[in-house]
Amino acid sequence: MRRSKTFTVILSAVVVSLVLIFFINRRNNKEPDVPPLSTTAVTTTTVAQHTETSDTVGTTQPAEPTQPASPATTTQGQTSTEEVKDPVDYSVIRPNESGEIPIVMFHNFIEDLNSTNDIEWTTSFDEFEKLLETLYESDYRLISMRDFIDHNIDVPAGKIPMVFTFDDGTPGQYNLIEVNGKLEVNPKSAVGVMLKFHEKHPDFGLKGIFYLNMDKENKTFEGAGTLKERLEILLSYGFEVGNHTWGHKSLETVTSKAELNERLGKNEKYLNELMDGLKFYSLALPHGGKAPEDLSDYLVKGMYEGVQYHNESIMAVGYLPSVPSIHVDYNPAYVRRIRSQGKVETRFDLTYWLPLMTRDRMYISDGDPDTVVVPERKKGNISIEKLNGKELITY
Ligand SMILES: [Zn+2]
Repeated sequence: MRRSKTFTVILSAVVVSLVLIFFINRRNNKEPDVPPLSTTAVTTTTVAQHTETSDTVGTTQPAEPTQPASPATTTQGQTSTEEVKDPVDYSVIRPNESGEIPIVMFHNFIEDLNSTNDIEWTTSFDEFEKLLETLYESDYRLISMRDFIDHNIDVPAGKIPMVFTFDDGTPGQYNLIEVNGKLEVNPKSAVGVMLKFHEKHPDFGLKGIFYLNMDKENKTFEGAGTLKERLEILLSYGFEVGNHTWGHKSLETVTSKAELNERLGKNEKYLNELMDGLKFYSLALPHGGKAPEDLSDYLVKGMYEGVQYHNESIMAVGYLPSVPSIHVDYNPAYVRRIRSQGKVETRFDLTYWLPLMTRDRMYISDGDPDTVVVPERKKGNISIEKLNGKELITY
């Protein structure tokens, strides 16, 4: 009896041990939810390290918490190969998403510059085409006003975003012709030139905002088609329209809130009615004149005959490149533009600015619209409140 009792104890110990070993093994086998270190993971880690150590700005500060999260930690084991394929090497691209963005202002376009005495506000279709080539070769890429305001900047790494704005709805900017009973964009118009350029260089972007005075009615983009048809075709290419006031008078002369509401709201109302509820969201100040200080709030928001207007950006006339909308100095109530060159180069026009807009001061994209990448020493230029969920990365 005693022997068999001892045997039972030993047997029980063995069974318990086996059961324990079985569970320990099972747990160990179950553990790797994380797949074993793959070549992908090794590559991403290397990229991240390379990025961190490749800083040539000269800062000796340790990596900030905002340093790019290693792609290995977020996409490990998934399809991170795509991200690994072409990593942005900050030391080569040197992104600076706190740098300046030129917002170019155009007015008149004609065939022959000899036919005008205006030296500042008019250019020719040929000169415009040459300008597009120059801008393209100089790494500028077009973005919309909407994307400028939202800081939704989707241009390739190393490229500089640029906004095109067109004031006054002149026919040289855009007009329609009738070809075999069909309305088409006149190739002899700025939009016509841009469409042709876009076929050759689709990556330049086909964007621009046209600031309109609805009181001009059919004089806006004068040519074939009704104003509604002209606007519909313009918008169908992805261009945008903005408010340039009813009447095109400088807002410096406004004396009351009601008068300001009318100049902005009446323009808005006519657009809404003509274009089935379409709204402006940006204003270009006619002649660059600001409204009196005590009325300036009504430049941004107001109401006229039951129609509300809201200008998320208010464009000045001159004479500097703008800061991006996430910059601490960005003032949506007075956004700087640069006038394109007219017949001759004049001070502060685009031709004057082009050689001065060096890469060290301009906005250089990191190629990812969801991140904001700046050199460590420029971090203070970014307003954290304006980031709107985008990740700030310094290097
Ligand atoms: Zn104007």
